[in-house]
Amino acid sequence: MPRTVIRGGLVITAAEEVHADVLVEGERIVALAATGSSAAQAWTADTEYDATGRYVIPGGVDAHTHMELPFGGTAASDTFETGTRAAAWGGTTTIVDFAVQSVGHSLRDGLDTWHAKAEGNCAIDYGLHMIMSDVTEDTLKEMDILVEEGVTSFKLFMAYPGVFYSDDGRILRAMQRSAGNGGLIMMHAENGIAIDVLVEQALAAGRTDPRYHGEVRRDLLEAEATHRAIQLARVAGAPLYVVHVSAEQAVAELAHARDLGLNVFGETCPQYLYLSTDNLAEYGEDGFEGAKYVCSTPLRPREHQAALWRALRTNDLSVVSTDHCPFCFTGQKELGRGDFSKIPNGLPGVENRMDLLHQAVVDGHISRRRWIELACATPARMFGLYPRKGTISPGADADIVIFDPHERYTMSAATHHMNVDYSAYEGRQVTGRARTVLSRGSAVIEEGEYRGRAGHGTYLPRGTSQYLH
Ligand SMILES: [Zn+2]
Repeated sequence: MPRTVIRGGLVITAAEEVHADVLVEGERIVALAATGSSAAQAWTADTEYDATGRYVIPGGVDAHTHMELPFGGTAASDTFETGTRAAAWGGTTTIVDFAVQSVGHSLRDGLDTWHAKAEGNCAIDYGLHMIMSDVTEDTLKEMDILVEEGVTSFKLFMAYPGVFYSDDGRILRAMQRSAGNGGLIMMHAENGIAIDVLVEQALAAGRTDPRYHGEVRRDLLEAEATHRAIQLARVAGAPLYVVHVSAEQAVAELAHARDLGLNVFGETCPQYLYLSTDNLAEYGEDGFEGAKYVCSTPLRPREHQAALWRALRTNDLSVVSTDHCPFCFTGQKELGRGDFSKIPNGLPGVENRMDLLHQAVVDGHISRRRWIELACATPARMFGLYPRKGTISPGADADIVIFDPHERYTMSAATHHMNVDYSAYEGRQVTGRARTVLSRGSAVIEEGEYRGRAGHGTYLPRGTSQYLH
């Protein structure tokens, strides 16, 4: 088996920081030893990387991506091939994407369709969650089988009536089922029925610009849905994971539930930490630039960010994923000219997450270990992939990033690798960058050169959440 040694770096995991050399054999990490120790010096290898002055961190685990997602008459512009390649560029070595069950079809149909999209195309490893759009007696039974097979998490929507929406009764039934089979319900928590009324009223009043997307999707309607989801989960005796939390009032609901000791978890995304309704209100030359920032839950006024950062420190929010769901400005976001409700919802970000969260370390929002916990270890544990993914320890997959904490660069659509014609972070300077990325022992990125290939990435059947008690 080929042997690789990474020498001289600061190895950072969620638990500790040590100056150590890392030995890889084949696809696995086999040993760590103090840099300069006789044990480390005795190691021979086919490939050696010098990580002096750099960090050696676990590959990022992005538990929320939507490659090729059909939405609003179009589809997310990154395929599994382009999206996983971009993820690798940004230091992410595992994604968990969402297979979609469409109304009237089985979960199996949706899962088969998504396997066909991903198989043979990914540069890094991937797992799948299941979006349930149609909770029926049959699909409830299918949930048990999927959990056994390694699709252990199910996303439901309190928003998007007529598409993904589930009413409270269906949500309760799915939660009851997950209480019995070990699955984890992931919730898009926004009151979509109320939002649709406000959308209709805004459009009737001629308020059609992108910024009204943010205004009608009120923070209170995120908080209300979050509260309701928590109570339904309590009634069902089921755990709950709330995706893409953006409103301060929703964070308060999560904090309250966690103070009660409930198995309730929250995720946020870099866009809610770094962007705001100021971006949504951008008009640009043609009056429509804000469409680039249309996603749901929406960007919030800047004042919400302090609550999100605080919750990341107190663990009331425990995961940062991207909700990567890119649509090109030209030809896709433009579908909503003259009607903000027709702008496809989603932002690109899978390539930017690790570096943006490192910037949060530089800025003093979180510690280095917390960075790795939020971006690697906790998502791996939450979705049944730990310790194979999310840490650097003997036996783990050799998904390793050599990260330069000093390199400064400017994020831009001109240089990023995502298949989308704009960057949500255009012009933003960050300090720190993934330089070399290994996936199961193979170099995918080496000092700014792509060495990966479509099909290297393998499908990851997952265990049940490792946080449930
Ligand atoms: Zn999503």
